[in-house]
Amino acid sequence: MTHAITVENVTFAYDDRPVLRDVSLAIEEGEFLGLIGPNGSGKTTLLKIMLGLQQPDSGRVELFGTPADAFTDGTRLGYVSQHSSDGESTMPISVREVVTMGRYAHAGISPLDDEDAAIVDDALEQVGIADLADRRMSRLSGGQKQRTYIARALASEADLLALDEPTVGVDTESRDAFYDLLEDLNQRGITIVLIEHDIGVVTEHVDTIACLNGELYEHCGTAEFLESDALERAFSSARAAGTASVASGD
Ligand code: ADP
Repeated sequence: MTHAITVENVTFAYDDRPVLRDVSLAIEEGEFLGLIGPNGSGKTTLLKIMLGLQQPDSGRVELFGTPADAFTDGTRLGYVSQHSSDGESTMPISVREVVTMGRYAHAGISPLDDEDAAIVDDALEQVGIADLADRRMSRLSGGQKQRTYIARALASEADLLALDEPTVGVDTESRDAFYDLLEDLNQRGITIVLIEHDIGVVTEHVDTIACLNGELYEHCGTAEFLESDALERAFSSARAAGTASVASGD
């Protein structure tokens, strides 16, 4: 089986501040992985390295079997960062326009055609925001914005979604509906890697967990993870180092 992402012996420091030590993990195509760990434990950094957005100091990263720095098929990757909406929220741009951006990588310099428009409509439909298509981004709730970015990734025909704390600031009901959407997309074959600070929530929905705190403490099925002491080990090492503050299950 081809792995969606392979990380081997990755080490990374910001200047002289070590963040990741010898991290290795392989994410299978079709996996739904929750990446957890204390604040400042390197989750966002690892996610960016996995997507080839940041270079490790040492070690190797592959995307769909290709070294990340040589991977050119960016339309396969949908990344929703914590700051995705910063730009569009202040510009007078509609939901449909943001989702349509997902088609440009395919169209190149050709104008978009009816088929592109149909794919955009379908993406809006799939994430349940067809009725918001003409609304400005600045008038959306946090959850609606996240759905818009996922629709943009679907419009670009991404088969890997990487989401960095997508439900921060989203109310409980919308958060549950959002996870239902992710489960649905995963069942249709999309690989999902998700950073989530709320361990109670994430373990309810994902299939596998990777627990990080500078080094990788565990990567296994959710049930096995809950039986293990990885969480305790990762978080107690954070307490010992005085670095972490963590939400669990609230
Ligand atoms: P997490 O996502 O687990 O909260 P991050 O990967 O964001 O962790 O950050 C890991 C550590 O690296 C933190 O101590 C953070 O302050 C530091 N850090 C993150 N980004 C930068 C940066 N651009 N420059 C310097 N230090 C950074």
